[in-house]
Amino acid sequence: MAGSTKTVLVIVAHADDMEVMAGGTIAKMVDMGYAVHEVIATNNERGTLDPRWSPRFTAEARREEARRGAEALGVDPYIEFLGYEDGRLSETPLNELRERCMRAMRRLRPDVLFTWDPFAPYENHQDHRAVAWAAMEAASFSHFPLYHPEHRDEGLEPHYVGEQYFFAKVPRDENKAVDISGYLERKIEALCQHPSQMELMVAELQMQLAASGLDLPPLRDADPKDYRPVIETMIRTWAAGVGRRQGLPAGRQGIALAEGFRRQRFGGIERWARELGAELPDDV
Ligand SMILES: [Zn+2]
Repeated sequence: MAGSTKTVLVIVAHADDMEVMAGGTIAKMVDMGYAVHEVIATNNERGTLDPRWSPRFTAEARREEARRGAEALGVDPYIEFLGYEDGRLSETPLNELRERCMRAMRRLRPDVLFTWDPFAPYENHQDHRAVAWAAMEAASFSHFPLYHPEHRDEGLEPHYVGEQYFFAKVPRDENKAVDISGYLERKIEALCQHPSQMELMVAELQMQLAASGLDLPPLRDADPKDYRPVIETMIRTWAAGVGRRQGLPAGRQGIALAEGFRRQRFGGIERWARELGAELPDDV
């Protein structure tokens, strides 16, 4: 770590996971001078509702969308794609996936890891569950030299990852809120670099609305191809909920907008320090 800057590694399953779950926080960290790198585990080839899209076409489109999304947030444009099949990541042995994550950590030497939460009880996507376990375990042991000692032959030395930010899908899991009031536009801009996913998201929301029997004309009548207004409303509502629950001070717009995480820092040191009356500073 040089000065107050840090290196961040985001390990996710899909092209849009980072933007959806942490886009505001990542943009904020980039503005603070942090270097952010991204690893995407799958080829994303099942992420469409359009039956005319072949898996190969979908994978190529989503790889390009991932690059544009990363660029909009200021993330390193070189994204490492691990190349696993979308929707079937749990078929990959955990230790194989963990080795791929550990290799990335030893190469990029992050201070901070962002990933899905392996302990989130309501996660319905096997790719999220699989990548979460692998990334968390890799971060827990990448400083142990006898885990994959063959990495040293390639010049990849053991490395300690001190902080983990696990995406919080539900309020139960939030113990850290990052104020993204000044970064909502950047997050939305990054999300809009993923047209295939945003169209899918709007179409899915419309299915949910139809199934619910509720009538919300702005959503019901939206054209999924014109996804931006719906995405803006959804992201703003979600961020306002996190801000309100976590008691963040309201900004200029009268509400606090935030992203929520289950954060772990520095193993047991944070708890130990608190017992002794010491408080570790927050960087975001
Ligand atoms: Zn995903």
